[in-house]
Amino acid sequence: MHVFTTNKDMLEYLEPFRKAGSTIGFVPTMGAIHTGHQALIKRSGNESDVTIVSIFVNPTQFNDPKDLIKYPRPLAQDIHKISGAGADVLYLPRDEEVYPPDFVPVVFDPGHLQQVMEGPFRPGHFEGVITVVHRLLDVVKPSRLYMGLKDYQQQTIIRHMIKKVQMPVELVPCTIVREEDGLAFSSRNVRIDPALRSIAPSIYQTLLEARKMLETKEADDVRTWGSEILNDLGFRTEYFELCDGISLEPVIQKKEHDLIVGCVAAWLGDVRLIDNLVLKGHPLNA
Ligand code: AMP
Repeated sequence: MHVFTTNKDMLEYLEPFRKAGSTIGFVPTMGAIHTGHQALIKRSGNESDVTIVSIFVNPTQFNDPKDLIKYPRPLAQDIHKISGAGADVLYLPRDEEVYPPDFVPVVFDPGHLQQVMEGPFRPGHFEGVITVVHRLLDVVKPSRLYMGLKDYQQQTIIRHMIKKVQMPVELVPCTIVREEDGLAFSSRNVRIDPALRSIAPSIYQTLLEARKMLETKEADDVRTWGSEILNDLGFRTEYFELCDGISLEPVIQKKEHDLIVGCVAAWLGDVRLIDNLVLKGHPLNA
C-alpha cells in the first residue's frame, strides 16, 4: 500500500490509472479504523481498479472542541487495518493540503435535510462534513465514493450535494456492519463504560422491535415507545425518529412512504451512539 501525505504525490500516483480509464474507489474516514470501515474498503476493492482511503480528522465538523481533542488517532494500527482490507493507497493529508490559504468552500445549502435529527444537536456539523467531502472529492476525483449507511443523514446530504453541484462521482451506500451482539461498529464503542457495554446493543434490538411494531401501529406510537424504552434502559435518547428514507421528512402516516428508516441518537454514559434500521421498504444498497 502506498501512503501519501501531499496532494501532489497522491495525484501523481493516480494519474496513470486515470489515463488508462481505471475506476477509482474512494473511502474517506477519520481513522480509528474498525470492521465497518474495512467493509467499505473491501467493497471498493471488489468493485474498483484502485482503492484509495483517506484519514483526515476534519476540525470543521466537530461542534464540540473537546470531541476533536478526544478523537482517537491510532495511526500505526490504522495503517495495518487499511492495508489488510486491501486498499492500494492511503492518503493522509495535513490540514494545509485540505484547507490551503486560498481555499473557498463549496456553496451548498441542504435546507431541511440538515435541520432534522442530528441537525439541532450538532450545530455546524453538516456544514463541516459538506465542506470536507466536497474538498476531498475535488482533489481525489474518484469514480465512486463509498459511504456507510450508519450515518444515514450524512450520506443523504452528500447524495444531494453531489447531484446539486454535479460532481461526476457515484455514491455507493454501504450496509451497516455490526458487532456480534448487534451494536453498530463505531470508533466510539471503545469509550463505552464496560459496566454499560451490555446495554449498548439495545438500540439495535429496539429498532428491530420498532420494525415489528410499525406493522400494526402508526409512526408516532413507535417514536414514543422507542424513546421511552431506551430511556428506561439507561440511555438518554436525543431522538427516536421515523423518517422518509429519501426526503428525511418525519413520517406521519406510514402508508404515504415507500421507505421508512428508524434513526436513533442516544447517550450511554458519556458516549453518544447513533444507529438506524429500515423499518419499511427496501434498503438503499439492496
Ligand atoms: P468515520 O471515520 O466515522 O467518519 O466513518 C467513515 C465512513 O465509515 C463513513 O462513511 C461511515 O458511515 C462509515 N462507517 C462507520 N461505521 C460504520 C459501520 N458500522 N458500518 C458501515 N459503515 C460505517
